[in-house]
Amino acid sequence: MKNVILVRYGEIVLKGLNRPLFEDILIKNIKKSLLGLGKINVVKSQARIFVEPDDENYDYISAIERLRRVFGIVSVSHVKKMETDFETIKKCSIEMVQKILKSREYKSFKVETKRGQKSFPMKSPEVSAELGGVILDNFPNLTVDVIKPDFILYVEIRENTYIYSEKIQAFGGMPQGTNGKAVLLISGGIDSPVAGWMMAKRGVEISAVHFYSYPYTSERAKQKVIDLTKILASYCGEIDLYIVPFTEIQLEINDKCPHDQMTVIMRRAMMQIAERIANSNGVQALITGESMGQVASQTIQSLVATDDAVNMPVFRPLIGMDKNEIVDIAKKIKTFETSILPYEDCCTVFVSKHPKTKPLLSAIIECEALADLSGKIDIAVESAEKLTIKREALH
Ligand code: ATP
Ligand code: MG
Repeated sequence: MKNVILVRYGEIVLKGLNRPLFEDILIKNIKKSLLGLGKINVVKSQARIFVEPDDENYDYISAIERLRRVFGIVSVSHVKKMETDFETIKKCSIEMVQKILKSREYKSFKVETKRGQKSFPMKSPEVSAELGGVILDNFPNLTVDVIKPDFILYVEIRENTYIYSEKIQAFGGMPQGTNGKAVLLISGGIDSPVAGWMMAKRGVEISAVHFYSYPYTSERAKQKVIDLTKILASYCGEIDLYIVPFTEIQLEINDKCPHDQMTVIMRRAMMQIAERIANSNGVQALITGESMGQVASQTIQSLVATDDAVNMPVFRPLIGMDKNEIVDIAKKIKTFETSILPYEDCCTVFVSKHPKTKPLLSAIIECEALADLSGKIDIAVESAEKLTIKREALH
C-alpha cells in the first residue's frame, strides 16, 4: 500500500490529438510547483495524473495546497494505492475509515465504486455492498446513508486500486504556457490582480508592469504590488515584474493638459510603456483590470481612446463583471486582503475632479500633443526596474 496524490484535469481531455501536448505541459507545471518538497514520480494514466513520492513522510498537505493552485487541475485527492486484490482492498478500507473516524465524528457513510478494470470479477455495486458490510461489521456506530452520508469512501478499481475519501477542488482552467504570453498592468487595487489571475487561469503566461510615482506614492505602495504579484506567483510560478517610474510623465500631463482629459492621457501613456516592455520580451498582448462603466476612464469612449494608443490587443477579462463579483474572486484567490491595504496608487495622486466621461479621441489626441511625452516615455521604459517574483507557498 502506498500514499499517492491523484490529480484530475478537465478541459485538456477535449483536446483530441493535441491532448498529450497539453498533458505534458501540465506535468511539467506540476513538477515545478512541487519543487523542494522531495523526490517524486509523476505518472500519467487513463486521463489522470498520479504524483508518487519516494518518501512515505512526504508533506502531502503542502503538496496538495500547491497542486490546488496549478491551472488545468480540477481536483486532487490524497489516495491509497494498492494491488487490485479484494482482501487487500478490504483491509485498506478498514484502515482508512479508522483514520477518518479518529479526527471526525462521522455517523454515516457510503461506498462508491468505479471499476475501470473490467476483468475484475466483481461488479461495482457488488464491491460497494460488500465493502459497506465489512465497514459496518468493524464500526458498529456507523450506518449507511446513500443519500446524504457524512463521508464517502471512493474505491477505484483499475490495474491498481485507489481508495480515498476527499476530493479537493482546484480552479480548473488551462495549463500555464499553453496560451502564449501577456503583460498585466498591475495596480495595487482589487481589480487588476483578479484580471491577471483570470488570464493566467486560461493558460496565459503573465508578466507584469507597475507604474509608481515616487515620492507621491510610497515604498509601501510599491511593496503592496510586489506582495500581490507574489500571490499571483503562487498560482503561476515565476513572474517578471517591471516597476516603472511614472512621476515625470504625470507631472508633465498635470502641467500641460486640460485636467478633464488627464486620466485618459495618462492611461494612454501607461499602455504605450507596457506595450514597449511587452514587445521587447516577445509578448503579444496586454491585460488590464477595467470593467465597463466602473469609473470615467472605463466608459466605451474612454476605452476606445485608451486602446488607440497601442497596436496590441488589450484583454479585459473583468469587462462584464460587477464590483461584487470581482471582490468575490479576489477573496477566493486571496488577493483581497492585500488589495484593500490603504496605500495610495499613482492614479489617485493626480486626479481630475470632473473627468470627461465621454472623451472624443480627436480631442484627447489634441490635448495630449500639448505635453512633451515621447522622450519621457523612452526614459521610463529604459529605467524600468525588473524584479523576478518567485513562487512562494501561500497559506
Ligand atoms: P484596479 O483595482 O486594478 O486598480 P481600478 O478600478 O482602480 O482598477 P483604474 O485605476 O482606472 O481602475 O485602473 C484601470 C486599470 O489600469 C487597472 O485595472 C490596471 O490594469 C491599470 N492600472 C491602473 N493603475 C496602474 C498602475 N499604477 N500601474 C499599473 N497599472 C495600472
Ligand atoms: Mg486602481
